[in-house]
Amino acid sequence: MVRILLSNDDGIASEGLRVLYESVSGLGEVSVVAPDREQSAAGHSLSLYRPLRIDPAGEGWFAVDGTPTDCVNLALNGLMKDRRPDILISGINKGGNLGDDITYSGTVAAAMEATLLGVPSVAISLVHENGETPNFGFAGSFARRIAGEVLDRGLREGVLLNVNVPNISEEDCQGVRITHQGKRVYGNAVVEKIDPRGREYFWIGGNSLSWVKEVGTDFDAVANGCVSITPIRLDLTDYEAMKDIEKWDLG
Ligand code: MN
Repeated sequence: MVRILLSNDDGIASEGLRVLYESVSGLGEVSVVAPDREQSAAGHSLSLYRPLRIDPAGEGWFAVDGTPTDCVNLALNGLMKDRRPDILISGINKGGNLGDDITYSGTVAAAMEATLLGVPSVAISLVHENGETPNFGFAGSFARRIAGEVLDRGLREGVLLNVNVPNISEEDCQGVRITHQGKRVYGNAVVEKIDPRGREYFWIGGNSLSWVKEVGTDFDAVANGCVSITPIRLDLTDYEAMKDIEKWDLG
């Protein structure tokens, strides 16, 4: 029996996780280990300085008072250590995880953690604009399709798949593109205001962010109504830069 582990960063009660669960439950035995509350933008952070609690949240469902990385680590090294999953799927995130933003992403971090621990992994996100109603239906059916392929074919060691699905129906989808990470254009995204006690405060983020128009990127695929699949390597080394730096005069 195929074993499937699910996690996310939107929290155990999120709609995207429920849709993912329903979409892949026909493929095998599904376990869910997810944060007990929203942990978006948690990045690849591990809680080392406090205890973690695991609460049962239904048959095969567990809520953890920690980050997505904590959830996957506890699942693989604790809850499921004697019956490790064949695949980890993280999502379906409410919002895209595109370009450079993936280093902030808790959704992608959960997949990174499983990859580090030797389990083939897929992060899947639904790309939708602020104010747009997210429709998880197509992302759910695509999650099932890609899970089937990964279970059949496997993934290269140290590589995960970052999947972004546009907020459209299956009929309107223009295809599937294998992409590389695009580049976000970061604007003046810090909001500076004064609180009721006269002290200034700052809020990171804004909605004026755009991206560099370049064919072949994850941004470009989604903007053209396509599903984007980016293979992500956990080895962040730049091998070309190694050659340059070897020529430096460092003794
Ligand atoms: Mn999220």
